Amino acid sequence: MDAAKVQSALADLGLPKFRWEQIRQAVFGQAVESWDAIAVLPAAARAALAEKVPFMSVTERRVDVSGDGRAHKALLDLKDGRVVETVLLRPSETRWTTCISSQVGCAVACTFCATGLMGLTRSLTPEEITDQVLFWRQYMAKKNLPGRLDNVVYMGMGEPFACYDQVAASLKTLVDQRQFGIGSRHISVSTSGVAPKIVQFGKDFPQVNLAISLHAATDPLRTRLVPMNKAYDLAKLAEALKEYIGSSNRKIFFEYVLLKGENDRPEDADALVKWLATVGPKELLHVNLIVFNQTDTPHQPTDENDAREFQKRMLAGGYKSTVRQNLGRDIDGACGQLVVLEKGK
Ligand code: SAH
Ligand code: SF4
Repeated sequence: MDAAKVQSALADLGLPKFRWEQIRQAVFGQAVESWDAIAVLPAAARAALAEKVPFMSVTERRVDVSGDGRAHKALLDLKDGRVVETVLLRPSETRWTTCISSQVGCAVACTFCATGLMGLTRSLTPEEITDQVLFWRQYMAKKNLPGRLDNVVYMGMGEPFACYDQVAASLKTLVDQRQFGIGSRHISVSTSGVAPKIVQFGKDFPQVNLAISLHAATDPLRTRLVPMNKAYDLAKLAEALKEYIGSSNRKIFFEYVLLKGENDRPEDADALVKWLATVGPKELLHVNLIVFNQTDTPHQPTDENDAREFQKRMLAGGYKSTVRQNLGRDIDGACGQLVVLEKGK
């Protein structure tokens, strides 16, 4: 749903402004699924609106649910025949989080990422981005899933800062009290390191969480794993992050996927501690060590012992560090496993 389009359709149809108020409550409050389901609107208005504005920019193709019921993965059809993936996660009994996509595919081409393997098809519109959240709210209402969906992470397919304007517009809609009403601090955007946009983001959205997909702390290794490093190397990234901290004073989360024998050695951990010191104060930097989800790439997950040793070195260096095992591995719904099947499959 695109609020501006709906409001201008209402004006075109000569319908009074309070109709938007009714629509807004039905869509964001009750998670109705169609124009027809907004009973408070006269039938003629519903029909006229259905003619003029599509209710959703995405439609469900398929939803898979993990064995433990804590991860749901949806394939959503877009109007131009493209398909995008999004995941609904229940990290605890009452909390729901959605992992949403910003692009169909991704141009960055990180070597371990399933999305990266497919290349970039196109960026999503702001409406296609926020409709993923709307889709899950409707899904939860339909399935009577208890609790509320009010955490959003931009960690699905795509590089959010490669389509900054669309992502910025989608963030405004998500935090808008009259639309999704999600708290800024409940939203996280993850980037592979588009330095100028990191600086911009700190100014535009100082309350929204920022995650940096780092994966290596020396330039040759990072350039190999995360080719974005060619454009914005570690020194440029550190500069941008310093500026980000200057304007937002927020904690930064670093994502580091541990790959066996590649970036999980003691010297890699030491390089990370050394690089982090160039970024900012220790209490503002948090390192998430991520267990590699198997993808169709030559990488292997790190051994448990090596992961523990790596974490120990981070802690000894004075950095908060957690090891994260992602939910939804059995449905290929974990981070980096989001890859779209060809149409028709
Ligand atoms: N493009 C953005 C956001 C989406 S990726 C970015 O890279 O930050 C979300 C997270 O999943 C990133 O930290 C990414 O590096 C990580 N990831 C990618 N492939 C993975 C894999 N196979 N196993 C575990 N994490 C992976
Ligand atoms: Fe793109 Fe992120 Fe995957 Fe890298 S990890 S290819 S930036 S989606």
